Amino acid sequence: MTPRELFNEKRGSSVVRNLQGRGFDACYCKTGEEAKEKALEWIREGASVAWGGSMTIRDIGLTKALDEGNYQVIDRDKAATAEEKQKAAMDALSAEYFLTSANGISEDGQLVNVDGNGNRVAAIVFGPKYVIVVAGMNKVVRTVGDAMVRARTVAAPLNQQRFLKNTPCTVTGVCGDCRSPECICNQLLTTRNCRPAGRIKVILVGEELGY
Ligand code: SF4
Repeated sequence: MTPRELFNEKRGSSVVRNLQGRGFDACYCKTGEEAKEKALEWIREGASVAWGGSMTIRDIGLTKALDEGNYQVIDRDKAATAEEKQKAAMDALSAEYFLTSANGISEDGQLVNVDGNGNRVAAIVFGPKYVIVVAGMNKVVRTVGDAMVRARTVAAPLNQQRFLKNTPCTVTGVCGDCRSPECICNQLLTTRNCRPAGRIKVILVGEELGY
């Protein structure tokens, strides 16, 4: 094993223990491929599954596997009209499984997420029976404050490079603490504990994934 792999595995195991102490189901996987298999193990065949705008779950091939498998997929991105998109977002809130990543995870096991419309953070808080969070070790930082800083100064400006919305960070790469109508930092969610225990399942991955 390389020093990086050893570091990720040891640090990942510590974070997993801290997540478990807060009621999350949690595990560490070395690779995105292992993480995909673990998530598929957790998701009941035939169940309704929805997801947020995470790159991680796409990059590890999880959304593709679900699309091709025996699941009732609710995919907002396939909606043809604004009305269909809104309906898919509403339906996602009552899906059996909701998949997402996190914008930051503190070493003591708290999740931080930032959202524009709020549909993703809403699903993390309440609605779907289970939430599965897949996150690369690049999302892990020291404190919950650092996770908030990461969400606002790395995840959001980086995400804006794909959305290219009219915000300061799209132009400069730096958060301008904007109030733009196209701001994607309208909702900031810290998930301190998981209640009911086991509803949120976190898979940490020993690779750099997502934003
Ligand atoms: S400039 Fe606006 S959209 Fe960009 S990171 Fe800052 S608050 Fe978020």
